[in-house]
This record gives sequence, structure tokens and C-alpha cells, in this order.
Amino acid sequence: MSRHKASYLWNRNADLFRILKQTFSSKTSVVMQQLTKIKGLPIIHHDGYVCELPPKHRFPMRKFHGVFEHLLKDGIINRSLQVIEPLQVTKEVACNVHQEEYVDKFFSGRTTASEQRPTGFVWTPELASRVRYETGGTVLTAEISLQRGLACSTAGGTHHAFPDRGAGFCLLNDLAIAAQHLINIGKTNKVLIVDLDVHQGDGTAFIFKNVDSVYTFSMHCGKNFPFRKQQSDLDVVLDIGTGDKEYLSLLIDYLPFILDSFRPDLVIYDAGVDTHKDDELGKLNLSDKGLFERDYYVDSTVIGRGIPCATVIGGGYSQDLNQLSNRHTIVHQAATKVWHVQGL
Ligand SMILES: [Zn+2]
Repeated sequence: MSRHKASYLWNRNADLFRILKQTFSSKTSVVMQQLTKIKGLPIIHHDGYVCELPPKHRFPMRKFHGVFEHLLKDGIINRSLQVIEPLQVTKEVACNVHQEEYVDKFFSGRTTASEQRPTGFVWTPELASRVRYETGGTVLTAEISLQRGLACSTAGGTHHAFPDRGAGFCLLNDLAIAAQHLINIGKTNKVLIVDLDVHQGDGTAFIFKNVDSVYTFSMHCGKNFPFRKQQSDLDVVLDIGTGDKEYLSLLIDYLPFILDSFRPDLVIYDAGVDTHKDDELGKLNLSDKGLFERDYYVDSTVIGRGIPCATVIGGGYSQDLNQLSNRHTIVHQAATKVWHVQGL
């Protein structure tokens, strides 16, 4: 490495260190130490993304372990050169988009049974811990993407959470928290959230409905949860059974137009795989190849315009945890290819 490049990196690291201090309350030097060792596409992962659930719970919690294991086992990532552990999101950062009363109640276990029911989870301290790691992970992924161009979490995409409540397996809205935090600390002016999960990003749309600095784009199956939709800046509503060709052609119709008209300085991408033909909740008909082409198209189109991109895995549901975990690594495989092709 040349002297010039070393000093350039050091300055950028100093800047990132300042951002981390504004984000996490303590131990930011631990994150920074990990980051200085990173070579290649940064992968943000924490074993604390997973918590125990009652037997036969519908949410495939262990997929987060499975994703990470597949990434290592299949040689997609190198643990010592690419993996960074996030810290838990703080109350202050969560309150960027959530009501303080809700955050207090969720962090301390005082949400009522009727508030918990629509979330699909019964509150436990481990659940709160997991959600805080996952949300911290998305915030960190966005921050690192500003420095490195592209970064990927192994979780995230909890887009059904509203300011005062959780819903549909989502307790805190990590996408909204990350976008609003980076705007609040002055690191970005305009954020585009590209939500390609099969379900509408209703919480995110609601949070930013009157906010000009965040553009919400949701492409989802119309006849699917949530049955009461919100209005995103752009909703592309898909019919049941939409396949690769039609899906990709719609994405190509809209994404470049949004990028060139809104001109974001950060994109947060929710790469939900519940659009896959074998997904148990999805109702669309995408193949593995279609998912790879979708993820590669989003990343390369964003990065090709010089805009940083942070990816989260979004939804995906299957009894076959191995197959599901593998499917969730498609976004990391696509990002790896973009990282090399674009010379990041
Ligand atoms: Zn979903």
C-alpha cells in the first residue's frame, strides 16, 4: 500500500470512528479494530442475531446461523478478513423513528400481551437482545457502506415495525432507524430504501410518508400480508405467480429512474427471498437464478452510479432451514461479484 493510500484510509477511518461513537454508546474501538483488518466485502454478523424460540415456532430463527455457516462453508466469505460484529442499537438511535414510550417498553419487557400478539413473538430478554443486535447490525452495515462502498448484513429488513408498535415478526424498523440516524448525524442527505421483500414495507412507508429525505420503494405481491397497505413513495404491486422475466423487467423499468431522479447518497437494500417460488409465504415464482440476477442488478446499478449500498437479507420462510439459509446467501454472492467487477 502506498503512503498516500494509507493516509487516505486513515483519515476515512477517523471519520468512521467518529460516526461509530455517535451511534453506539461503548466499545466502538472494538468495532474499529475489526474494521481495520477487513479486506474485501464487509460482512456484518453477530451470533446474537439468534435467540431461542418455543419449539415449532413459525419464525425460522436459526436461519441467521445457517446463513453465516453457508457463507463460510461454501467459501463465499473469509471469516478473519471480512466479518465484523455489530453492537446493539442504543435507545437514542432507536428513538430516531420510534416513540420513546414504545422503545422503553420493548427494551424492558413491558409490552402487553395484546401488543405482542401481532408481532408473532412473546417477549423475552433474549428476544430484545437479538432485535437490538440485528438493528445495530443494519446501522453498522449502512455506516460501513459509506466508507467501503458496499457492505452486507446477515440479518435485517424488519420493515413491518411502526413508530409505536411491532408487527409481522418485526419489532424495530432497522431500515428506517439506519436511514434516519445517518441523516440526523449529517452523514447522508438522501437515502433510498429499495425493498424487494415479497411483503410491502408498510412500516417504513408510514414512517417516511412525509419525509422528503428518504425515498421508499417497495415492490411486493399485492395479495399478501400486510392486508392494509401503506403508501410508499413508489409501490410496484405484483400479481401472484410473477416470475423471473416479468419481475426483472419491472425492476429495470423503475430502479434507474428512481436513482437518477431522487439521487440518493445511500441505498439500503432489503433483499427478501420470500419472492422465491418455494417460499412458504411468498406467492411469487422467482428462481435461484432470478434472485441472483435481481440482487446483482440492484447492487451493480447502485454502485455503478457511485452510490454506497448496504444490504440486508429480509424475509424468507421454509421448513427446510438448510435450503432457506442457502437461498439467503444469494445476496452475498451477488454482492461479492459486484465487489470484484467494480473494483471496490
Ligand atoms: Zn417478507
